[in-house]
Amino acid sequence: MIKFDFSTIPIPLSGKVVEYICPKCKTEFEAPIEMVEEFEQEDAFNGLPISTPPYIICPKCQHNKCVPLDYKSKRGYHHKYNK
Ligand SMILES: [Zn+2]
Repeated sequence: MIKFDFSTIPIPLSGKVVEYICPKCKTEFEAPIEMVEEFEQEDAFNGLPISTPPYIICPKCQHNKCVPLDYKSKRGYHHKYNK
């Protein structure tokens, strides 16, 4: 599993992570929960439905729509990816 380099993020990290998968190249990686929640909040601000997963860019192929494998969002939606 690839570890993303999130050292550039200007927020303190708790060490909690969410497992992500790139639907394009099938790379699985971990993203800090703080980052996921940040994206989630942005989606909420932008008025996106709660079923919208907080997308993250793939560390391998740069595909920008990687989704959580299994994540219960703060907005109250259970995101699940079927491999
Ligand atoms: Zn990828």
